[in-house]
Amino acid sequence: METHLADWLAGTPDGEDAGENLRRCVHCGFCLATCPTYLLTGDERDSPRGRIYLMKQVLEGTTPTRSTLAHLDRCLTCRNCETTCPSGVEYGHLVDVGRKFVERQVRRPRHERLVRWLLRETLTRRRLFDPAMRLGQFVRPLLPAFLRDKVPVRRAPGVWPVRHHARKVLLLNGCTQPAMLPSIDAATARVLDQLGIEAIVEARSGCCGAIRHHLNDTEGALAEARRNIDAWLPHLEAGVEVVLVNASGCGAMVKEYAHLLRADPAWADKARRIVEATRDPAEWLPAELAGQTDRIRAALARGAVPSRLVFHAPCTLQHGQRIRGAVERWLASVGVTPAVVPDGHLCCGSAGTYSVLQPALSRQLRSNKLTALQGSRPEQILSANIGCIAHLQAGTDTPVRHWIEWLDEALNA
Ligand code: SF4
Ligand code: SF4
Repeated sequence: METHLADWLAGTPDGEDAGENLRRCVHCGFCLATCPTYLLTGDERDSPRGRIYLMKQVLEGTTPTRSTLAHLDRCLTCRNCETTCPSGVEYGHLVDVGRKFVERQVRRPRHERLVRWLLRETLTRRRLFDPAMRLGQFVRPLLPAFLRDKVPVRRAPGVWPVRHHARKVLLLNGCTQPAMLPSIDAATARVLDQLGIEAIVEARSGCCGAIRHHLNDTEGALAEARRNIDAWLPHLEAGVEVVLVNASGCGAMVKEYAHLLRADPAWADKARRIVEATRDPAEWLPAELAGQTDRIRAALARGAVPSRLVFHAPCTLQHGQRIRGAVERWLASVGVTPAVVPDGHLCCGSAGTYSVLQPALSRQLRSNKLTALQGSRPEQILSANIGCIAHLQAGTDTPVRHWIEWLDEALNA
């Protein structure tokens, strides 16, 4: 698509990124059929092609309106359109630039600014969010439905292994996951321990930056990325094998560090080193688990773990990190065939803070996703991202867990 960027954008790193992606889009419309918001609203401006056109106008110098902002806000950043696009448009990078410049020119109403500030400043700070979540989980039955939806029932994390091993990996010292469901990190550490690998959580690291990034706090997100890079690099230099990120939303963000810091000469190389070392468990663990197959099969044969399973592939895993079918293939290799999910490429509506900021669309997407997931009447729904797990669990009585929790149970049954 012919593009003439505004003078204030041309020649900048953002301009080069956006210009390249705008030029790649040929307006074919293939992406419309896989865009969850377009499928719900039927409005072209809620589709990838429509949003690209809106952003093109702004980046060429047209002043955006509240309506421009509203259509960009409704985008889940699920990146399903990237998977579909035959021209290689990196929509995720484009919408980052588009949102940044729309947000600078359109003032949000006071209540929207307040909610976004609260999300940014509380979710990302463990010393605030941990006690708030603990309290919420304690009084959960008394909470109004809209709040109860956001507070998962606490699962006992179990013991954290104390053995030391020569092989080591870093786990993310995240923000919402350890507060909402600490059982996921503890299960990951136990699985690694069984494999003779020690999990290190570096106290100087913290939130991956995704929450601030998706709320357009670019500088805040970059500060979190730089802090994590500085905290992790010495471990990698000392021989730690990988940064294993067991929340696919956080993993997708960490894998963006090199792109986000590409124009910063002091950080670009360090960020690339971190990205090269970052793995989702779905792409790294199956090879490590090769020797455990008989043990897991035996647990299944004894009925010690559920076998009627379905896997919800988070968008950040299948579209963001482009890891598709890895968990399902591994489950099949140990004797479990997860049910096929109709429209498995569509978002569940969690999408970071989307379920708070766009509750109606989010609930509709969850309802559609749960209908698709529960068609096979599974005993458990497995997934790979804390946001999806908590969001889906709020809409069903069927247990929703990280697949690594199921694996931990199978290895320890
Ligand atoms: S599929 Fe790709 S090229 Fe076609 S309209 Fe969508 S973004 Fe543009
Ligand atoms: S990121 Fe998802 S919601 Fe946004 S335009 Fe692409 S497919 Fe639609």
